[in-house]
Amino acid sequence: MPKIRAFHIVPALPEPLQKLRTLAYNLRWAWDHETIELFRSLDRNLWEQCEHNPVRMLSLISQERLTEAAADDAFLAEVDHVHYSLQTYLTTTNTWYRRQWADKLPPETCIAYFCMEFGLTECLPIYSGGLGVLAGDHLKSASDLGLPLVGVGLLYQQGYFKQTLSPDGWQQETYPENDFYSMPLQAVLNEKGEPLKVCLDLLGRQVSICVWRAQVGRVPLFLLDTNLPENRPEDQDITDQLYGGDAEMRLRQEMVLGIGGMRALRALKIRPTVCHLNEGHAAFTALERARELREETGCDYATAREVAAAGSLFTTHTPVPAGFDVFSADLMNRYFAAYAQQLGLSFDELMGLGRVNPWDQSEQFNMAVLAVRHAHQVNGVSQLHARVTRRMMQAGYPGFPEEEVPASYVTNGVHLRSFASMEMAELLDKYLGGRWSYDGHHEGVWERIEEIPDELLWRVKETRREKLVRFARARLRAQLERRYFRDDPEFRAAAEVLDPHALTIGFARRFAPYKRATLLLTDLDRLIRLLTNPQRPVQILFAGKAHPREDAGKELIRQIVQFSKRPEVRGRILFLEDYDLNVSRYMVQGCDVWLNTPRRPMEASGTSGMKALVNGGLHVSVLDGWWAEGYDPRAGWAIGRGEEYSDPQEQDRIEATALYNLLENEVVPLFYDRGMDGVPRAWVARVKYSMRTLCPRFNTHRMVSEYATRYYFPATLRCLKLRANNLERARTLVDWKQRVRSLWPQVRIQEVITSPEEGATLQVGDKLKITVKAFLAGLTPEDVRVQAYSGSLDADRRLKAESIVDIPFTGQEGELFCFQVEMPCSASGLRGFSVRILPAHPDAQLPAELPLICWE
Ligand SMILES: *Cc1c(COP(=O)(O)O)cnc(C)c1O
Repeated sequence: MPKIRAFHIVPALPEPLQKLRTLAYNLRWAWDHETIELFRSLDRNLWEQCEHNPVRMLSLISQERLTEAAADDAFLAEVDHVHYSLQTYLTTTNTWYRRQWADKLPPETCIAYFCMEFGLTECLPIYSGGLGVLAGDHLKSASDLGLPLVGVGLLYQQGYFKQTLSPDGWQQETYPENDFYSMPLQAVLNEKGEPLKVCLDLLGRQVSICVWRAQVGRVPLFLLDTNLPENRPEDQDITDQLYGGDAEMRLRQEMVLGIGGMRALRALKIRPTVCHLNEGHAAFTALERARELREETGCDYATAREVAAAGSLFTTHTPVPAGFDVFSADLMNRYFAAYAQQLGLSFDELMGLGRVNPWDQSEQFNMAVLAVRHAHQVNGVSQLHARVTRRMMQAGYPGFPEEEVPASYVTNGVHLRSFASMEMAELLDKYLGGRWSYDGHHEGVWERIEEIPDELLWRVKETRREKLVRFARARLRAQLERRYFRDDPEFRAAAEVLDPHALTIGFARRFAPYKRATLLLTDLDRLIRLLTNPQRPVQILFAGKAHPREDAGKELIRQIVQFSKRPEVRGRILFLEDYDLNVSRYMVQGCDVWLNTPRRPMEASGTSGMKALVNGGLHVSVLDGWWAEGYDPRAGWAIGRGEEYSDPQEQDRIEATALYNLLENEVVPLFYDRGMDGVPRAWVARVKYSMRTLCPRFNTHRMVSEYATRYYFPATLRCLKLRANNLERARTLVDWKQRVRSLWPQVRIQEVITSPEEGATLQVGDKLKITVKAFLAGLTPEDVRVQAYSGSLDADRRLKAESIVDIPFTGQEGELFCFQVEMPCSASGLRGFSVRILPAHPDAQLPAELPLICWE
């Protein structure tokens, strides 16, 4: 092979247009309609051809067009205006963080957010679905809020696959090559101006990793890439594909993300106080953090882990144990035997960190278990999902009631301005002021929705539905162009599919079987009647990718495509190929109804419905994920009442019937109930109510500010406190935990005395005096909390806890410690309590860090 000399050629932008480059490289354009319009106006066709990638567009645009634009005063004025708006955005000190938090927190506060995928824009195809889009929205909101946060992810050489369908509806995958140089990315350089690289030891080889930077408003996203000539081919391939390859490939990717990611931050002189592990994939971060700390201070692993865990948050997104990555001991041994030594652990000890029962040789290494052990903060992504998560984690908390397993929730959201259509954004800007998009988590901001005239809101909806129909027709034509000649009847018919005025239902998401895309196809006759009603027509748009290795998902797509070809429903039901952020936006902006039919409780949160809300869509969904807490009969519709079934077929039948009933009896009639001017007033009222009450809650500004105030800020303070004075408090805490752990088996409750005696009848308002005598085995009363766990008793005399009361220490009797409290009786009925002891320490988060409990 002859030597290849490679050069990187950039377009010659005329001087007055230089600002376009700055605009193109800051992804803030992805949520700024003005900037998008600016690029689009430069060359509409090219903008579409480049998949909305301004960097690529600038490299392909003709020099002629550039020269022309450089002489166009109106265009230049717009460039100046948009550039000024970006600079103002980047430099303003008037952000939520600056106003409310910056002076209450130490200057080194820094959050590093790790995720396997980020969905920021369609031209950066390093995401597969909801997890990635959520991570992208997290960064966008962190930028808007001014939070000191950086993202860390992987840069895949091949984008997530593009979906096409064979004529009979079977999904085909093609993997586009990403050309990083024509994407909104910049190589990160070191002080010498060379590419910054960090190393990772894999099977005794040093693998080089270079770093790319995507700038998301104020927030940098660092993306790791192993495709370097100095690496062996199999190592170059690590960052080849998102979720491609086998378990070993996954392990290598997760090592690059966690260990390589931490090393990259260190090379960049970024030292996070908090690491947010978004899903278990990123859990090796915690090991590397501990290793770094050991290297710096010479402390043991337990102490290093203490500091790392105090500054780590683990967010889980799956409701089933099968959703977590597990690796065999054999595989782990090959990759981690040497690393364990650097942590000061034997390999068996390291394996134990990923096992529920550390010494159970049959257990595999589970990334979620590793994450839970190394992050003192754990959360799920909706109220219901937190319940499911607690149930999954309960084995790690023997003796604890399920509701006390330490996993809370932060319900997901969406970045409103990214998903609101330009027309809707303009309307909201006008009536609510710009605050809806930067302070949108304040309910007061949304009150003024009521002031928008019904016709105006409705006109936006109609415009967007029309645009969606036009988009779908163009897509369909492009799809058919690959197969048919232009004068083929099927091709010509594509120009007339769908009806811009019909009630439009959208269903788009990954085609995982639990999402039940075909629930609506359960009773075809009933569905056909809905679709073909001449007075009140309904049309349905589907989109979504199935996992390349999951035929069950592909089969669902095939069924929908097959059905859509029936002559009687032609043009009323359509499957749009290649679901991505662009298709997603068109759909959520244009659909009147957003449908979601997961098998409860399999949808941890779901977010696409929230994107529809801000565009005046109404949500029809099973009460699962976010809808289980967001549902309000005045705002949308629920399929069922939150039941869970043991027989999936029966469930499908019942819920399909409920869905048809809803559509036939409520949704369709409301939509077609028009005033003299054609506006469906009652429908619009519902839309307004839904926007006013749900948008302030289900957005990522609310979500990120909740993460910040509940987790990032307290964890920053805890982590710094434990780290100070050469880890002084961390060391004390480790010693304390070891002492408590070793003495705990002997701790016992010797005696509980109540006054009056057990079985007595008391009146509401009376006081029950409880005295507890406990043997603490050498611990002091300050080391523990004694509590009365009280509530009502059910028919089986089981206690349903309603309150937990601390019982204060009152004195010593020989080797026993006495605790006493007077508990007011505030409710009537058969009531009871149990006494228990738990460890307590001011620096520890309990029971997360030390799940010990002693019941009477
Ligand atoms: C919002 C979004 C998702 C997630 O949708 P869910 O309903 O939460 O499953 C997936 N893919 C894309 C492209 C999205 O925009």
